[in-house]
Amino acid sequence: MLSSGPHFMRLAASGCLGSSRSIATIISGKEMSKLLRERLKKEVQKMTSEFSGFKPGLLVLQVGDRDDSNLYISTKLKAAAQIGIDAKHVRLPNTATQHEVLQSIMSVNENRSIHGLIVQLPLDSVNAIDTELIINAVSPEKDVDGLTCINAGKLSRGELNDCFLPCTPRGCMELIRHTGVTVAGSSAVVIGRSKIVGAPMHDLLLWNHATVTTCHSKTRDLPEQVSRADILVVGAGKAEMIRGEWLKEGAVVIDCGINHIPDPTKESGKRVVGDVHYASASQRAGFITPVPGGVGPMTVAMLMENTVQSTRRFLKHD
Ligand code: NDP
Repeated sequence: MLSSGPHFMRLAASGCLGSSRSIATIISGKEMSKLLRERLKKEVQKMTSEFSGFKPGLLVLQVGDRDDSNLYISTKLKAAAQIGIDAKHVRLPNTATQHEVLQSIMSVNENRSIHGLIVQLPLDSVNAIDTELIINAVSPEKDVDGLTCINAGKLSRGELNDCFLPCTPRGCMELIRHTGVTVAGSSAVVIGRSKIVGAPMHDLLLWNHATVTTCHSKTRDLPEQVSRADILVVGAGKAEMIRGEWLKEGAVVIDCGINHIPDPTKESGKRVVGDVHYASASQRAGFITPVPGGVGPMTVAMLMENTVQSTRRFLKHD
C-alpha cells in the first residue's frame, strides 16, 4: 500500500436546487501511480549504487506489429526508463513460428540480466500459435505479468506473498485500499472472469477476506448482483454497461474498462469510456475511478513494481 496521503478529488454536485450534496470521491490512479513510480525510482537508484551500476532488467516480447500493442509497449518502456529499469523490446515478425517464439522465451529465461519478461498479448502471427503454451513457457520467476499457471495457481490458493500478482488486479487492489474502506468482511462483486482481470481480481479480494461474487455474460439479473456490492470491480469490455441506479449507495467502484465510443465533438471522432456509466455512477458511489486516469496508469505502475520485486528476489538469492 502507498504510504503517502490519499489522492482523492471530491466533487460537489451542482444540483438544480442548488444542493451542495457531495458525490463520489474520485480515486486518482494517475496521482497514485506517479507516487509509486517515484518510490520505485528511489529504490532502483539505491540498488544501482549498492551493486555498482546494477539495473533491473525487463524485456517485452512482441509478435507482429499491432498498433494498440505498440502503444501499450511504448507506455511500458517509457515508465521503465523513468524509473531506471533497463527495458528492452524484442519484436518478432508476424511470420514467427511457435517454435521460434518459444526459443526466444527460453533464451530470456536464461538471461541473468533480465528479471522480468512479458509477452505482449494478443500475439499477432500468421501462424497458429498456442497462446497458453507461450504464456506458460515464461519462467514463473520472471513472470511479472503474473499470468503463468504457477503464479495464477498460487494466487488462487492464497499464497499472495509467493507469487507475482497480475498487474491490473493488483492495481485495483491498491486503489481499493487507498479509499480506507475495509475489505475484510465486505461484499465484493467482480464483473468479468478473464485470466488477466476478473479471475485474479476475484482471488485477490477473496484472500483479502471479502465475500466475493463473480459475474459473467451468463449471470442472471446483473443489476441485482451489483446492488449488493460494497466493492465493485468491473472488467467486462462493455462501454458504460453498469448504471448508477444499480449501485449500493456509497459503494467503491473500480472501472477497468477501456472502450472507444464515437464522439463527434472530438478531433479524433471518438473518446475513451469505461464499463461504468460514470455520470450516473458518480452520483451514487462513495468512491469511483475515472476512465482514463484510474486503473490504466496503476496497471503500468504495478508492472514496474513486479519487476522491481523480481529484482529484489534475484539479488537476495544471488
Ligand atoms: P475479456 O473480453 O477477456 O473478458 C470480459 C469478461 O466480461 C468475460 O468474463 C465476460 O463473460 C464478461 N462479460 C462480458 N459481457 C458481460 C455482460 N454483459 N455481463 C456480465 N459479464 C460480461 O476482457 P478483459 O478481461 O481482457 O478486459 C476487460 C476490460 O478491461 C476491457 O475493457 C479491457 O480493455 C480492459 N482492460 C484494462 C486494462 C487496464 O490496464 N486498464 C488491462 C486489461 C484489460 P464470459 O466469460 O461469460 O464471456
